[in-house]
Amino acid sequence: MPASALLALTLSSTALGHQFDNYAYDFLFRLIQPAPWKPGSVILAIDEETLRRYGGNAGIRSALADGIAKIQPAHPAAVAVDVILAEPSTEEIDARLEAAFAGTRNLVLASYLLENNTWNDPIPRFRKYAFATGHVQASFDDYDSVSREVPLMKVGGHDRRWSLALDAFRAVQRAQILESPQDLQVGAVTIPSKLRDFTVDGRTLRVRYPPVAMGGLPRVSIAELDRNPSLVSRFAGQVVFVGETALAAGDSWSTPYSNGKTTPGIEMHASEYETLAQRNFLVDAPLLPVIGFCFLMAAAAGLIFFLGSGWVANLEAMGLVLLSQITPALAFRNSVVFAWLPGTLTAALSVAAAATWRHLIVRRELARAEQEKTRYQKAMQFVTHEMRTPLTAIQGSSELISRYGQMPEAKRKQMAELINAESKRLARMIETFLSVERLSAGQMEMKQERFPLPELVERCTERARAFAERKQIEIDVEALPADELSGDRELMEYAVYNLLTNAVKYSPALTRVRVFSEDDKGGKVRLSIQDQGIGMDKKEVSRIFEKFYRTKRAEQSGEAGTGIGLSIVEQIVTQHGGTIHVESEPGKGSRFTLILKRAS
Ligand code: ADP
Repeated sequence: MPASALLALTLSSTALGHQFDNYAYDFLFRLIQPAPWKPGSVILAIDEETLRRYGGNAGIRSALADGIAKIQPAHPAAVAVDVILAEPSTEEIDARLEAAFAGTRNLVLASYLLENNTWNDPIPRFRKYAFATGHVQASFDDYDSVSREVPLMKVGGHDRRWSLALDAFRAVQRAQILESPQDLQVGAVTIPSKLRDFTVDGRTLRVRYPPVAMGGLPRVSIAELDRNPSLVSRFAGQVVFVGETALAAGDSWSTPYSNGKTTPGIEMHASEYETLAQRNFLVDAPLLPVIGFCFLMAAAAGLIFFLGSGWVANLEAMGLVLLSQITPALAFRNSVVFAWLPGTLTAALSVAAAATWRHLIVRRELARAEQEKTRYQKAMQFVTHEMRTPLTAIQGSSELISRYGQMPEAKRKQMAELINAESKRLARMIETFLSVERLSAGQMEMKQERFPLPELVERCTERARAFAERKQIEIDVEALPADELSGDRELMEYAVYNLLTNAVKYSPALTRVRVFSEDDKGGKVRLSIQDQGIGMDKKEVSRIFEKFYRTKRAEQSGEAGTGIGLSIVEQIVTQHGGTIHVESEPGKGSRFTLILKRAS
């Protein structure tokens, strides 16, 4: 799960990741628009009509002079001019423009950073009337040319300029700009804008373009002003942004709203001003909470599928994915830009990973249950089969006795003995099966007796030898220490006998079974039973204590078995505080070692 968060964060930090985040930003920008406000700025536009009237580009300066002179009676709060005035024009026109500037309060003129890193400033003749000269360069995202942020500051050589809009803003605020690494302070307004570096776009600001409901910022063209002088009143007390809106000027760009349509540069400056004046700041969420959010999502996905499954878990996972979508939206509503992609990717990746994990687990459990069932069925078949044999013998013998009254005494005795032996066998079998259940349910009461180890082994080997004879297998018991054990002798006997009969069952004829004891440094009693039989591989060894488990080799050996014996042996040994170890190699043989507590 943490891997999916890491992967998501890594993918999000690529160029493609940023682009996706930008699209998400644009989407939220359109989805969650601020309430319309009363603009503090007006655009004085040099539009197509104005250009026609003043004779094209050559007439821009004279249009500017006329326009600015005409709005003067309305006493605008400031006038920001987005026209580069770096060269003199004819004396007549420049004199008119100078006169217009001279009568303008809070005039802000435009500078442009040239390729050679020097500033293209207005000629001194105009500049001397300017409160400030601000840069007019926009900034665009590398891959889609959408202007989401603007540089508040630009550095060229040793010279730095604030943006045109910020200069206009500080002019009307009548305040200096106080700088700190985190923000700029203009009068009472704190502009959140981190100082990234002192190179090109050292500080940026996300522009809150006016909502669609406002239908753009107020705009009056110079030509319109000529036709309808009453429009002058619109400029009263406003911050005026003067610039070209004619498409031919080429100064027009995309915004998150524009969806393909472009916005003139002058409108972008005015929007930047509105963002400042309205204090409508969008702040990027710091990295740490975003990373934390991702890891939390990943952990939640893991938890959902660890604790639950089925449709409940799926529903919860959907909730998680929804949360990854709602969080950036809620943040945006609170003017915080919370990166969309890391959370979304984390949710998707970790839900997919966790669901896959769950699926695999469920499948494995299902397969295991199936196996268990078939094994159980097989065991049941075997049990019923095994029980039928003594039952048939008992039935047959008893029928014979009752049918033939005149049976010779010797024959009758033989039959009675058979009945007795078979019913004892049946009882033992039933007892064994019941023991497993009781032992595993913890209902079995163990006797507490003391008994010597050699005697116990002796009794078991005695019984096992009869069983081993048919295969001519020899059971060698090496000298055993005279240690005493404590616990339930009968159960211990069952365990040792079982290991012995297994050794015989799973060995070829004419081999040997060794029973011996080795010194144990931990003060315990070790009893080993080693055969030269079919053996097992590691995987099989790890499963032989499961109920009903039999190895393939054992099945193929033709020896009858239920796969229950060892599970009982293990339980008996652990109930006695001991352990059981198995070493085995296919084809070579096995060695079962009991490590038991000595009687105190
Ligand atoms: P079973 O009734 O099949 O003998 P057990 O529980 O006694 O059941 O043993 C489980 C399985 O462990 C056996 O079926 C066999 O595959 C394997 N096994 C037990 N003892 C030996 C041994 N001495 N050599 C090889 N395989 C053994």
